[in-house]
Amino acid sequence: MTEHEDRVSSIHVTAIKAIPVGLKGYVKVETNMGVTGWGEINNMETNVACALAESLGQLVVGENPTRTEHLWQRMFRAHRNLRNGGLMMHTISGIDMALWDISGKLHGVPVYRLLGGPCRDKIWMYPGPKAIKIGPGGAQYFAGTPAEVEGLVQKVKDAREKVGPDGAVMFDAHSCMPPPLLKQFAGYLKPDDLLFLEEAWVPGNIDAMRKVRESVPVPLATGERDRTIWEVREILEAQVIDILQPDCGHGGGISQMRKVAALAEAHYVPIAPHCTMSYLGTSASLHVAASVPMFLIHEGYKKRLPDDVAIKQWEMDEDGYVSLPEGPGLGVEVNEARAIEFGQTTDQQFKWPNARLRDGAVSDY
Ligand SMILES: [Mg+2]
Repeated sequence: MTEHEDRVSSIHVTAIKAIPVGLKGYVKVETNMGVTGWGEINNMETNVACALAESLGQLVVGENPTRTEHLWQRMFRAHRNLRNGGLMMHTISGIDMALWDISGKLHGVPVYRLLGGPCRDKIWMYPGPKAIKIGPGGAQYFAGTPAEVEGLVQKVKDAREKVGPDGAVMFDAHSCMPPPLLKQFAGYLKPDDLLFLEEAWVPGNIDAMRKVRESVPVPLATGERDRTIWEVREILEAQVIDILQPDCGHGGGISQMRKVAALAEAHYVPIAPHCTMSYLGTSASLHVAASVPMFLIHEGYKKRLPDDVAIKQWEMDEDGYVSLPEGPGLGVEVNEARAIEFGQTTDQQFKWPNARLRDGAVSDY
């Protein structure tokens, strides 16, 4: 170490490994200073995810892990043809979380401190005592009969019954309610029936989104499948949504999610992060949520993995708010031996979805 060097400038990555943990891939990044970072890869065939993480991760071995933005660019722009593809982005997201975890641990602070510090004292999360999300219950035909439409409307009424007038109901259309059916359904909704209606379209068709917007009175949200600032830019500029739902595990990790949140802020659109990860990836997303000014509510589920695989520090209070994810780093203790053991013994296995309409045709889901 020269006199100009310190722990931050002389740290480098020595190894990267990825562990299949059921439906999740856990990425471990090791350094020459004994500081280790962890990240999560979600919604991928886990063995493919782990192999890709160890291959792509060679780009960060030997590099300074605190250069999170530089290394994100290295990975994202490493391959001109694969760039921005789903498998690449989910993998980059996991590695990026691990790099931020190292930065936080090296500085002895929660990651949100490195992102500008907390903008709030606690984070509203669903599902919670007063906030639930419902959906259509699988693939839906293009247009519905009165009985079918009434069935969907009844789901909203039942959910409202559960949470009361001071609770929040969200409806995830899951891209499987085609525009004609959506128009029929929306005809029964009042503006305050839903906190938001999610993915009322298949991503990628701005004109279709615009058309849906004309017939739907409730706030519209989307974003879980839109990756990076370059994909959300078009949606925000077209003014077709009210709430953006970036996913820290899909869209490029912490490095990209904070930029996406800033872009949304510039369009006066709050974020409601989408999240189906275990406590490791959920904590990464919470650090961003804690540090951005325009935030509505965060998705987060219990028991995606056994509690002793990744031990979190935040807790939900009786009103449905979770405490800030304290650190250092992501503030998650990963039990590596337990993660490996669970991965080797679980029967949780990735299956390719096979959603069908009632006539046997393939459906979005
Ligand atoms: Mg969704």
